[in-house]
Amino acid sequence: MDGWPGMDDGPRMADVVLAEGRDRIVRRRHPWVLSGAVARVEGHAAPGDWVRVRAHEGEVIGHGHLAPDARLRVRLLSIGKEAEEEEPVLAERLHRAVARRASDPLLADTDAVRLVNAEGDGLPGLVADRYADVVVVRASSAGMLRCTPFLAQRLRLETGAAVGLVRDDAVAARREGFAARHHVLWGDAPEAPVAVEERGRRFRVDVRQGQKTGFYLDQRETRDLVSRLARGRRVLDLFSYTGGFSVAAAQGGASAVTLVDSSREALARAEGHLDESAPGLARRLVHDDAFEFLRADGSSYDLLVLDPPPLARRHADLRRAARGHKDLLIHALRRAAPGAFLLHFSCSHAVDAVLLRQVLFAASLDAGRPVQVLGTLAAPSDHPVSVDHPEGQYLTGLLVRA
Ligand code: SAH
Repeated sequence: MDGWPGMDDGPRMADVVLAEGRDRIVRRRHPWVLSGAVARVEGHAAPGDWVRVRAHEGEVIGHGHLAPDARLRVRLLSIGKEAEEEEPVLAERLHRAVARRASDPLLADTDAVRLVNAEGDGLPGLVADRYADVVVVRASSAGMLRCTPFLAQRLRLETGAAVGLVRDDAVAARREGFAARHHVLWGDAPEAPVAVEERGRRFRVDVRQGQKTGFYLDQRETRDLVSRLARGRRVLDLFSYTGGFSVAAAQGGASAVTLVDSSREALARAEGHLDESAPGLARRLVHDDAFEFLRADGSSYDLLVLDPPPLARRHADLRRAARGHKDLLIHALRRAAPGAFLLHFSCSHAVDAVLLRQVLFAASLDAGRPVQVLGTLAAPSDHPVSVDHPEGQYLTGLLVRA
């Protein structure tokens, strides 16, 4: 058996062989192989392994990370016939992702950016965010979990950041069958929240306990927009989290801000942000369910931002989600002063711009309030969406004049 290929270097890379005709979507460069597309796995394969994907007829069509029990069975990191090694692929993708941010004119004047946006950067299963000198890594696949030491070493080199942490997505971890981690990768864990400055707005980001990796980087350009719209306006910041939109409104000269969130911790941090940025501004911080609040509130506002958590995680929840969005909009329109601006967001791919407009139309009819759509909003350029992977488009918003 001497010279048999692969005999000397441990278990051979496993092959995931697709069912007949199921290679078409991969050949169109979509990076996901779903469980139903797989005919069989040849060779030894553990969760997170780097595997080769073959068409039914035998041709190699890509390489990626295996999740043997998940519906999303393989996340492809490279597509094509080439024999690919995992680490050079990861290193090249990371280098490109970091370099793109460094040279992106749309990302000027901030020290808080997303460095790696999963499929959008050719790195499915991986997110990395930078807050000043701290990089937070988030794996949502068993493959990226296994690769974390290598990824950490490369990210440290590429960014020069003093601290690296890992904080996995708990929901995704459960789906892929691993335990979400939360620990330091390099440097010393920050004792206090990390201070960042984005276009003159100051925030303290709780990278250890905060939502996501600590902050909603994806709303940076909407914060810019809110700042430009806010002069003299009474602002409602619904689902405020730590008050990103309220700080932006204060920066732009708002006359008053009302923040509503169901998280006490988030509101406490929002209060700190306003104390620092806008100590003289009239403000109200409300710990309540946003839907209940809107029903009971009797105030009028001239600028309303509605940024709910995902109301639909799957297409099956779509009707319920649409009802939730409509309910919010009807009540928000009733609270909107004539000429008010309203910014309404969905952060799930299932509720897209088309559905959001339909919901707005229905809400406008029910509320008896004609409205104009002035624009569509999305995540900024550090959250790129690959044209091969439309599912990566999760954040959509409408700018509306009531
Ligand atoms: N606008 C924020 C991000 C919002 S994320 C920003 O730009 O930073 C969604 C927020 O909604 C979270 O802070 C969460 O605590 C809050 N939330 C979730 N369900 C809620 C509910 N039913 N009522 C009020 N707040 C809710």
